[in-house]
Amino acid sequence: MILPGATLGVLGGGQLGRMFTLAARVMGYRVVVLDPDPHSPAGQVADAHLKAPYTDAIALMRMGEVCRAVTTEFENVPARSLEVLAQRCFVAPAPETVAVAQDRLLEKTRAVEFGCATAPFANVEDEGDLVHAWSLVGGPALLKTRRLGYDGKGQARVDNLDDLVAAHEHLRRVPCLLEGFLPLDREISVVLARNAQGEIAFFPLAENRHRHGILDISIVPARVPEAVAEQARGMATRIAEGLGYVGVMAVEFFVLADGRVVFNEMAPRPHNSGHYTLDACATDQFQQQVRALCGLPLGDTRLLTPVVMVNLLGDIWGEHGPDWAVLLRHPGVQLHLYGKAEARPGRKMGHYNCLAPSVEAAVTLAEETRAALGIAA
Ligand code: AMP
Repeated sequence: MILPGATLGVLGGGQLGRMFTLAARVMGYRVVVLDPDPHSPAGQVADAHLKAPYTDAIALMRMGEVCRAVTTEFENVPARSLEVLAQRCFVAPAPETVAVAQDRLLEKTRAVEFGCATAPFANVEDEGDLVHAWSLVGGPALLKTRRLGYDGKGQARVDNLDDLVAAHEHLRRVPCLLEGFLPLDREISVVLARNAQGEIAFFPLAENRHRHGILDISIVPARVPEAVAEQARGMATRIAEGLGYVGVMAVEFFVLADGRVVFNEMAPRPHNSGHYTLDACATDQFQQQVRALCGLPLGDTRLLTPVVMVNLLGDIWGEHGPDWAVLLRHPGVQLHLYGKAEARPGRKMGHYNCLAPSVEAAVTLAEETRAALGIAA
């Protein structure tokens, strides 16, 4: 067990790193952040900020010497950097499990091995695979880059072979995955933590709505039958145990019209759809990340109140930022801003949680406050 007073490290200084850092410092740990951006959200609140590339040998050596344990806030951290750190201190999640989440093909292949349902998929290593992949999957389908896709970026809908050839060219002929397009009833996610002792704790399921490929709101508890929740938790358990995962992990699922639950993707870190836990659960996902990393018993994940999380994107910033007064006059609203100086369309600037006695009331509060801030419905 790594107890308060020790120094922890996080690779990546974005909002997830910031919320990890804040949680760890509240619990009495010191935190070192590695991020090349001098104004990074996590760097602002850390005990120390190493401003260097993620592959910088000297920065990694210093981090490994100072920290008892290191985690990551994003999956595209170079696996080699985690390996270098792992020679000096405890690293969780393990580099091999982060590597699985970096590649959609590997991720879906492992999920199938662990007995999870997925959309039909086929590898498109290069243009020579297009016809074969189309014959396996057929249309309608989505062509997704295997690596570095996020928030709906790096993917295109294709309805015939000509579309597929054009989409592959548009995606610069990088290795891709062709995936059958499914009729979605809704999307849900589950955030879980697993510690080195193999103990698993689930946060309540979130029901997620996206806009232009970016998470817009999460509704908790998700309005799905218990059988759906059980399928999702069962698959997430098989993935976490199959990978021998240690840390916080999010797993996204599709719920189909016939009630089937299909694995979509995993993130080896806390997740945007778990931000509701900051105000609505006994333990939040970042405190849980600290606990899992430090080998502490996992915290109570009980939901204390229905909640809707609303993302705040740079789109509504204008020159002076949103009118926070119209939001903060609601006692049930909890605002979280990430300290990003520059707002850009699609950039996640913050979020707020709407707490209410019922999920319906939380949805209504979210709708009213979104309208007041000028967020498009
Ligand atoms: P992803 O980056 O894979 O999470 O995809 C972004 C969004 O595209 C998802 O949240 C879904 O709304 C949609 N999507 C992705 N894959 C599929 C699929 N196979 N069938 C239908 N919709 C999908």
